[in-house]
Amino acid sequence: MKNLTVAKFGGTSVADFEAMSRCADLVQSDSNIRVVVVSAQSGVTNKLVRLTQLDVTQEERDQILADIRATEYKIIEQLGRPEWVTLALDNLLNELKATANSENLVGSMRLKDQIQSYGEQMSSLLFAEIMRQRGVHAVNFDIRQVLKTDSNYGKAEPDIEQTRLQAEKLISPELEGTVFITQGFIGSDENGYTTTLGRGGSDYSAALIAESLSAETLQIWTDVTGIYTTDPRLTQAARPIPEISFDEAAEMATFGAKILHPATLIPAIRKGIGVFVGSSRAPKDGGTWILNQVDNKPAYRAIALRKEQILVTVKSPNMLLASGFLAKVFAILAKNKISVDLITTSEISIALTLDNPSNATLGGLSKSVIAELEEFCEVTVEEDLSLVAVIGNHLQASSGVGGKLLSALENFSLRMICQGASPHNFCFLTKTAEAPKIVEHLHEQLFDSI
Ligand code: ADP
Ligand code: ASP
Ligand code: MG
Repeated sequence: MKNLTVAKFGGTSVADFEAMSRCADLVQSDSNIRVVVVSAQSGVTNKLVRLTQLDVTQEERDQILADIRATEYKIIEQLGRPEWVTLALDNLLNELKATANSENLVGSMRLKDQIQSYGEQMSSLLFAEIMRQRGVHAVNFDIRQVLKTDSNYGKAEPDIEQTRLQAEKLISPELEGTVFITQGFIGSDENGYTTTLGRGGSDYSAALIAESLSAETLQIWTDVTGIYTTDPRLTQAARPIPEISFDEAAEMATFGAKILHPATLIPAIRKGIGVFVGSSRAPKDGGTWILNQVDNKPAYRAIALRKEQILVTVKSPNMLLASGFLAKVFAILAKNKISVDLITTSEISIALTLDNPSNATLGGLSKSVIAELEEFCEVTVEEDLSLVAVIGNHLQASSGVGGKLLSALENFSLRMICQGASPHNFCFLTKTAEAPKIVEHLHEQLFDSI
């Protein structure tokens, strides 16, 4: 379909009947929106994740199941409890309950993904009914038929070609007369088992679906009016950015701006799909366009903050003039699927940062990986660190950038600085306790006078 728009609504946008109704208004106001991708109601995925954890008691499990049921039932009551939708909702709640109480859950990544999928399944069921009650020909479409992934449960990788083929077969022919309401975050593997793309993955799903249907535009509707100069929760001085390039926005997402899942822009860049980010609460207030080319390319565009970082220093007394040390270290990290973010080196050591969400696994650096490294070097691990990234243009080559940023930070202690690999970022690592203050101060120095 020409001019197709895929619209994604995040958790707060579909949190309850009133929020969903605002999204429905938005969909009805734009006939190009033929595919709607919804997240679970805000807070539901966190609860589902809790159900999968080892230390959850039966009492807490029952309470969580009751809370989720209450959230969904509140919406269906406001829809007048239509018979077959209520039945479908009950089926999902019963399946969820049975899986949550299954003895096999603890050791099964597959069942954990299945549990996490119910939030999106319920919210698309209800959203489709809202649309139908407004007279729109809307279907609740099971995206697991289209979004094909590998079996890496918890963070599955999409199969782009299979996804395109399935979308062409199952969605494209019906687009003219139908609004597809479907789930973000979930897919299925070659055995038909449910997979998830990682937390916050609905943005990525929507981008993959937009790519597979050659959509013209992807809209990401959330709780803020676009991408801001920094997370508006960190400083009141943050302000929306009307236009930003793919490269800058991708760096922001990579370096922790939660507004977009880090992989969201990859499909959009591949296909040149324009991405709009706006608030479903205030759609008329505008938002941010993320485009291939933008006219305005300021040196300083935004500041991103990513918490829960660890710094690993590997030191070899033999590195002096030795070749192959870096390769050896990185081969071990690659073999263990550990992804490194920042790197600095000296003559005898390498310092690198790893993302460590939830602080449970030391960024994948298990005891056995440390032991492998310790066969030929000393390893130290530092925690409680955060990564602050200044995002902009020509940062690697413009005169005065280093001076400006470092003098702005003279009263803070920095643990590591990285600059030079990309024109779009200047990053440093700092104690997590100091990070919000640093972002606020830097924001004042870089943006308040503009
Ligand atoms: P959704 O549930 O709609 O996907 P998220 O909570 O994942 O919403 O993302 C929106 C949140 O991202 C905002 O409420 C805001 O606090 C946060 N955020 C982080 N960095 C930025 C930024 N640079 N601009 C706007 N929002 C940001
Ligand atoms: N519901 C999922 C989560 O909370 C996916 C998303 O909202 O993007 O992580
Ligand atoms: Mg999100």
